[in-house]
Amino acid sequence: MSWKTALQTEYPNAIDWTSLINTTGKALAGKGFTPKNTLLTNISCRDEVNATSVDAFSKYWGENFNLSGLGGYPSGGLTGFTAYSHHVPEGGNLFVFFGPHIGISPEGELCLVQRRGRHQPGAACGSLLGFLSKVQANRDYTPKLTSIDPEQYLVESALIQRADKFLNAANPGKAVTEEMYHAIQEQTYTILDALGFEGPIALLGGIFVNTPLDEDDYFAPRHAAIINYNGQNGVKHDWYTECFS
Ligand SMILES: [Zn+2]
Repeated sequence: MSWKTALQTEYPNAIDWTSLINTTGKALAGKGFTPKNTLLTNISCRDEVNATSVDAFSKYWGENFNLSGLGGYPSGGLTGFTAYSHHVPEGGNLFVFFGPHIGISPEGELCLVQRRGRHQPGAACGSLLGFLSKVQANRDYTPKLTSIDPEQYLVESALIQRADKFLNAANPGKAVTEEMYHAIQEQTYTILDALGFEGPIALLGGIFVNTPLDEDDYFAPRHAAIINYNGQNGVKHDWYTECFS
């Protein structure tokens, strides 16, 4: 199966990265978010296969406060978000772009990605799939915090409570990525609740799909909202439908 056929089967709503940047940029401009008054953050996995796409987003928005952690977990925490929110232009907006990633090989196999200068495709996301292997080998596996591997501990702690949802799935690698998506979104909102930023915050969440070399990455959107904590907690405006339907 070609990677494109597999992509359309597994992520039917995925759009190519160039379209993603332009479509969301246009939609957000209509809501008052411009590169001049908005500071972007990306919360995505550190893997170099995400870099080209993240850089393209950064280029569009001008700058990017990188809150990435392994697996795409917001391991920068409240301190990271606080610094980010203090760097935004005065009276301006935040734009939080988040999600885990999954590879798709040239042969259309999920959880594998072709890397520059390597003959065989490798795992993506390695953080999530490494954890999956541990739990598949030992259902009683317990994540442990160590000073030499703190980010992986955060990923594993967030996922272990969701193990029932991915261990028995038809494709556990795809399912663990989906569960990671939910864990990232939940934690991002928890941090934003604690942050109390007094201005509009746009959120865009989904799954990064890493395609073969020299192909545009794709993005399977899951969430697009604008929230405002200035006296009105919660989702203020959902802009998913206008962008992705
Ligand atoms: Zn990764």
